[in-house]
Amino acid sequence: MKNFDTVSLSFCGGSHDHGRCVKTALSAAEELCRSKSVRLTDARKRILELVWDSHHPVGAYDILSKLSLESGKTAPPTVYRALDFLLEQGLIHRIESLNAYVGCAHPTEEHAGLFLICNSCGCAAEVHDQTIDQTILAKASNLGFAPEQRTLEVRGICPDCQST
Ligand SMILES: [Zn+2]
Ligand SMILES: [Zn+2]
Ligand SMILES: [Zn+2]
Repeated sequence: MKNFDTVSLSFCGGSHDHGRCVKTALSAAEELCRSKSVRLTDARKRILELVWDSHHPVGAYDILSKLSLESGKTAPPTVYRALDFLLEQGLIHRIESLNAYVGCAHPTEEHAGLFLICNSCGCAAEVHDQTIDQTILAKASNLGFAPEQRTLEVRGICPDCQST
């Protein structure tokens, strides 16, 4: 088992070292882009970092306003293009129900995003389970269905919110 598992199973509570999540994610991104010969430009990297700011899925407009604060007025297409790039490379997932993005802790493995999303604080934890993935692909292929994107969202209450 890779050390990513501890990362992907963490909820956003203060009990984990999030700096480590960010560092792991950024170096995995650099490695992945190098191996695919695609360019992780400074802007793309900074946007990935902003998505990884926490385990709360973040909307494109939040990213845009943070970037604008940092480096002056930023055009929305810059952010959308970077997000598309990051999605394409599997570095982030899109949470449809929240219209928001969250970083992926294991971008090198082809997989469906399975997310546990807290109804109370909005944090999202990704569950990495290849058996679920294989089941979905097998069922789809039995029906002659070609899945293009697969993100599963399970709603509930995270451990932190249960204890307050
Ligand atoms: Zn973290
Ligand atoms: Zn993922
Ligand atoms: Zn919560």
